[in-house]
Order: sequence, then structure tokens, then C-alpha cells
Amino acid sequence: MNSYDVAIIGSGPGGYVAAIRCAQLGMKTAIIEKYSTLGGTCLNVGCIPSKALLDSSHHYEDAVKHFEEHGIDIPGEIKINLEKMISRKQAVVDQTTGGIDFLMKKNKIDVYVGIGSFKDATHISIVGEESTEIEAKHTIIATGSKPSTLPFIKLDKERIITSTEALKLKEIPKHLIVIGGGVIGLELGQVYKRLGAEVSVVEYMDRIVPTMDAGVSKELNKVLKKQKFKMNLSHKVKSVERKGDEVIVKADNKKGEEVTFTGDYCLVAVGRHAYTDGLNAEAAGVKLTDRGLVDVNEHLQTNVPNIYAIGDVIKGAMLAHKAEEEGTFVAETIAGQKPHIDYNLIPGVVYTWPEVAAVGKTEEQLKEAGVAYKVGQFPMRALGRSRASMDLDGFVKVLADKTTDEILGVHMVGARAADMIAEAVVAMEYRASAEDISRMSHAHPTFTEAIKEAALAATGDRALHI
Ligand SMILES: Cc1cc2nc3c(=O)[nH]c(=O)nc-3n(C[C@H](O)[C@H](O)[C@H](O)COP(=O)(O)OP(=O)(O)OC[C@H]3O[C@@H](n4cnc5c(N)ncnc54)[C@H](O)[C@@H]3O)c2cc1C
Repeated sequence: MNSYDVAIIGSGPGGYVAAIRCAQLGMKTAIIEKYSTLGGTCLNVGCIPSKALLDSSHHYEDAVKHFEEHGIDIPGEIKINLEKMISRKQAVVDQTTGGIDFLMKKNKIDVYVGIGSFKDATHISIVGEESTEIEAKHTIIATGSKPSTLPFIKLDKERIITSTEALKLKEIPKHLIVIGGGVIGLELGQVYKRLGAEVSVVEYMDRIVPTMDAGVSKELNKVLKKQKFKMNLSHKVKSVERKGDEVIVKADNKKGEEVTFTGDYCLVAVGRHAYTDGLNAEAAGVKLTDRGLVDVNEHLQTNVPNIYAIGDVIKGAMLAHKAEEEGTFVAETIAGQKPHIDYNLIPGVVYTWPEVAAVGKTEEQLKEAGVAYKVGQFPMRALGRSRASMDLDGFVKVLADKTTDEILGVHMVGARAADMIAEAVVAMEYRASAEDISRMSHAHPTFTEAIKEAALAATGDRALHI
């Protein structure tokens, strides 16, 4: 029986990063993945394929709506080849997952394909094409998550679908009903909106992306409505039924009146839940929480001292980069180091266009905690860079401590916000004040000038270009 210092169950961004870091630290490492491709949700059916389709659909929308204004005439009709779009996405996925195979080989990590189940706290059976059993001094559970649904919805995976199927549709929906106005629903909704579908978002809460700053939710809602999304907030879905090629969704609106939506596809995007099926956690004595998450302490250690857990299968934001940080954290902990993660500084991003990005506290959180703060906000439309590219929507908002001027949160809606948020993360990691940012040179013309201007506004109404 092969024996390892560390075995990792699950090869998503949490698991494969943990494996690389363990190997870098000199530990004999194995990774177990039930699917034949490595990379987990993120690389196979999450971050990467969704961004590939967002990029393709964005190009199409630009060609149809914006090229003419830029002085680019395309003779003839611009057509979508959905099959090619989906196969390009798959090629991106294949290339990326292939890259993980390379990294496993480079770092001399043994890869096992099959379902990993605990036999006890130090033995794992792997059931796949070639079943086997291994021994591990330490195990890291990185089994991720799966799409959630509502108890009364029967997902047929043809017309009543999750994000996984939405990434490989064979036709463009005429009317896509998206249940859930969170990140995944809005991103995939925008893909098909750009390709010509009517898109109705049905959201239970009174705002989209409800965990983000309310100002950001409002702005994104405004922009998406401008893009002709049909937003139905404060709607409680009560039934989803398929009749032939139609999907009928019934919901109660704020007034308690029944509203019926009829479409040809319904994307159920109501969140994700931790995945531990087949893991046989109880054989190792590992405790789960009431919500089915693997329970961990501040060292990401389970109640069984040699077993750790990371990523979507534990508490916290379900984000690839959070899982990656935790993978590194646990590898270094096992190696006897004292790593640290500041969860307040894990950024959140929505890859719609305009993009949305945030780090730190929202205004709502600061109010609730009774923290006195100041706000500096700057509209993207006031930037030369925005006018040049015609990306005028959105703003940057800097929240700073009223007394010390320390930056407590940065929230943005706008072109390239996903990349720009890194500046705010660095600033906050070093506990910068709004004045610190406002005194740093930002290249002109760039979208990042909005961060400097918002910081100037926060330091005392000193924005220069508004
Ligand atoms: C459509 C979509 C878009 C997303 N976009 C983004 C984004 O842009 N940015 C972002 O940060 N996050 C995004 N996410 C979320 C991101 O994919 C997850 O947060 C991330 O993949 C979690 O990583 P993980 O390593 O914890 O688990 P996962 O990536 O879920 O990987 C877990 C792996 O474990 C394997 N596994 C499970 N049980 C076993 C077992 N018993 N034996 C062997 N293998 C097992 C699974 O097959 C899977 O491969 C998106 C998700 C979706 C669905």
C-alpha cells in the first residue's frame, strides 16, 4: 500500500494548490479526484468556462452594437456560431485542466482517479477504474460544492438546468428565466442576453447580489435593466414546471400576487452546497455541521487532528481564490509554519459588464457595527479612459474610518473592476489610509484613476475631476 505524508481529496483550486504547496514543502503528496480531469468546479464547470463564454458573448455584442460607432463597418450579417463558441470554451477548459496535470507531474504529486472514501482516519480507499487503498499521515478534504436547488424543483438538466448545463446549451434560449440574482445567475444570464435571449431574473430578496454593498447592487440593477434584463425582485418562486418545450415558473410578488413566467429554459442559480457524498467522513470520525459543511477550527483542522478541510466544503465565501489561500494555509500549517489568512480581504467579483468588485466592509456592515466612516465616490463616466472606450457606467466607492482615515472597504462597478480591485486589496493589507492612495500616482488615462479620485473624495471632498 502506498503511504503519503499528505493525501488530498478533490482537485479543485483548493485541492491542487494545497498539493503543490505540500510538495514544495518536501512532503510526499497524493491527490485523489473522482473525475478524469483535474481542476474541480472552477476549471471544468465554473470560473474558467463561464469567463470564456462571457468573453465570447462580449465580443459578439461589441460587434453588433458598438463597432459601427467606432467606425468599423462589417459588411453582411454578424452571426453567432454557438457550437463553435461552446467548443472554444471547452478548448480553454481542456488547456487549463491539462496545465494542472503538468503541474502535478512537475511537483511529483501522485494523482489517483476515483472516489476517495475514508476507511479510517489514516486510510483512504479509492474506487475508480483502478481501485486501490492508500495510507496518509494527514488528509485534506477539498471536495468542494454542487449546485443547490429548491425542494419543489425537479431539475431535468435539459430545460430546467443548473450552471453546469448552461455552459453547454445547444441553442440560444428565446426566454431564459433565471431563478436567483446572485453572481452565477447574472453572469450566465448576461451571456445569453448578449446572444439574443430575453432574460428574466426572479430574485427572492429585494436586491440582486444581496451580500454586496447596497449601492453596488442598485447600480448593477440599473445597468442590467438598461441592458434590457427583466428584473423581478422580492419574488418568491413557488413552482417550476416543464410542459413540452416550455418552462412555467410561478412566483408570489411583494404584494402576495401570483406572477407567471413562461420561458423555454429555466436556470436555477440559488446557490451551492458543500459536497461530501461518498467521502464516508463518519468512518474517520470527521464531524459535519448542521448545514452539511465539514466543521473546522481556526487552523482549518477538523475534530480529527490529522484531517483538515478547505474551500467550498467549509464555511465562508465559495470562491476559488479563497479555496487557494486555504490550500496554502493548510499545507504550511502541516509543515509546522504559522500562516495567516485575512478573510476580510478576500475580494468578491461579478464578471458581468460592467464588472463588480469589492473588498472589506460594506456600508451596511459598518453601520451595523456602529463604526463611524466617511464615503468617497467617483463616477466612471468622469474619466477620460471611460469616454475613450465608451464604458461609462459605474463608480468607485471608498469607505474610510472617520477618525483615522484607514480604508475599510472599496466597492466598484465598472470596466475592469475585477482587475482593479487588487489595488484596494494591497492598500488594505498594508492598512493604507484614503489619503495614502490619493497621494499615489495613477497612470493616466486608466480606469484606476477612479480609485484615486474616490480616495480624494473620502479624504475631504477633494476629487479633482468632478
Ligand atoms: C458557474 C460558476 C462560476 C464560478 N465563477 C467563479 C469565479 O469567477 N471566481 C471564483 O472565485 N469562483 C467562482 N466560482 C466558484 C468556484 O468554482 C469554487 O469556489 C471553487 O471551485 C471551489 O474550489 P474547491 O477546491 O473548494 O472545490 P471544487 O472546485 O468544487 O473541487 C472539488 C473537487 O473534488 C472532487 N471530489 C468531490 N468528492 C470527491 C471524492 N470523494 N473523491 C474524489 N474527488 C472528489 C470533485 O469532483 C471536484 O473536482 C464559480 C462557480 C460556478 C459554478
